[in-house]
Amino acid sequence: MADCIFCEIAAGRAPALLVFEDDQVVAFEDIEPRAPVHVLVVPRKHLADAREATQDGLLPRLFEAAHTVAADRGVAGSGYRLVFNVGADAGQAVDHAHLHVLGGRPLRWPPG
Ligand code: 5GP
Ligand code: ZN
Repeated sequence: MADCIFCEIAAGRAPALLVFEDDQVVAFEDIEPRAPVHVLVVPRKHLADAREATQDGLLPRLFEAAHTVAADRGVAGSGYRLVFNVGADAGQAVDHAHLHVLGGRPLRWPPG
C-alpha cells in the first residue's frame, strides 16, 4: 500500500533491523524501543489492524513468529508481553497491523 511505512519495510524498500522473516511475516526492531526487547511482528500484506489480520487468518502466523522472536532474544523464560493496539483509544499510530513483542524487564500492569 502506498505511503505505508510497514509495507515499505516488509518489501525491503525502507530500512529496519529485521530479526525474523518468512513468506508471510516480517519482524523488526521498534524504532523507539520501550523495553530492552521491543520487536514489531507484521504481515507482509497490508492489513490495517488486528481485526483485519484475524479475518485474513494470519494471527497464528504472527503469534508463532512472536514466540520465535521471544525465544531468540532470550526472554522466553523471563516472560514477555504481546500487544496489538487497535484503534484510536489504544493509541494505534501505524495503520498496518503489528504485534508488539516486549520483554527484558518487569512490565507494569495495567498499561497507561
Ligand atoms: P502503535 O502505537 O501503532 O501500536 O505502535 C507503532 C510502533 O511503531 C511504535 O512503537 C513506533 O515506535 C513504531 N514505529 C513507527 N514508525 C516506525 C518506523 O519507521 N520504523 C520502526 N522500526 N518502527 C516504527
Ligand atoms: Zn502496510
